[in-house]
Amino acid sequence: MAKIIDGKKISAQIKDELKEEVAKLKEEGTEITLAVIQVGNDPASTVYVRNKKKACEYIGIRSVSYELEESTTEEELIELIEELNNRDDVNGILVQLPVPKHINEDAVIKAISPLKDVDGFHPQSVGALSIGQKGYVSCTPAGIIQLLKRSDIDIEGKECVIIGRSNIVGKPMALLMLRENATVTICHSRTKDLKEVTKRADILIAAVGKPKMITKDYVKEGAVVIDVGIHRLEEGLCGDVDFDDVEPVCSAITPVPGGVGPMTIAMLMYNCVNSRKINETELK
Ligand code: NAD
Repeated sequence: MAKIIDGKKISAQIKDELKEEVAKLKEEGTEITLAVIQVGNDPASTVYVRNKKKACEYIGIRSVSYELEESTTEEELIELIEELNNRDDVNGILVQLPVPKHINEDAVIKAISPLKDVDGFHPQSVGALSIGQKGYVSCTPAGIIQLLKRSDIDIEGKECVIIGRSNIVGKPMALLMLRENATVTICHSRTKDLKEVTKRADILIAAVGKPKMITKDYVKEGAVVIDVGIHRLEEGLCGDVDFDDVEPVCSAITPVPGGVGPMTIAMLMYNCVNSRKINETELK
């Protein structure tokens, strides 16, 4: 029987640790503030934003929200971001993605100061990660590292295969696994003989965006399987991994829901609370 990696429990532990840290900071007179911007009212985004605000409240982070009309222009949004960049009382800025189609997402990401880029999407944050310098790390991949470490799964020297090369999951995930001294392979939609490659993995990370695509035919006996996918099907939520098929052959696996999902918000909170440490050199 595989070990079930409990993302709900691990994310709760992280949030409790952060809550303690925030209470100490408050005693020293420091308050952490996250600015959350949502443009338009996409229902999924509204739920994400609500959950992020709830997590802030639990930990003791002040959140200031900006709910902007769908018709907001790119210039207006960037103007607000710049205002927040310049405010000493704001530690982190989060723009809930996707933004409406008339706004260029890359321009918005670039407008956020790398010192406040708690999502870790700014080119400077990604660049810092790739050359091993300090900076914010994208929350979902950072959460996966915490899941592995806090489940006592060794990463060093292991064969890690990541399926997916997106900017928010696959690529930063590969860089983080490399930083942890794994031997890393990235697969994508043009990979030939996908199963041949994934069957080499000691740690297999599926961020492919296809419900239940990864069956036991893709998995080496005893591998650790991390499922990043989230899909809302009629029968309920599922991931990129066919859990019932894969669970009997692997040594550890994340469920959906309750695996990677809860870690993303926990790591966003981590980035906010640690913004001072992440920017240590700039603050000196
Ligand atoms: P994406 O669509 O941007 O990227 C998917 C990647 O999979 C691409 O790089 C593509 O090349 C690759 N791919 C597609 N079909 C393939 C195939 N047949 N064989 C091999 N590779 C293939 O998706 P994303 O943003 O990286 O997200 C991936 C999944 O993770 C989605 O289900 C998404 O909902 C979920 N997600 C979850 C969280 C979380 O907090 N748990 C966060 C982000 C994304």
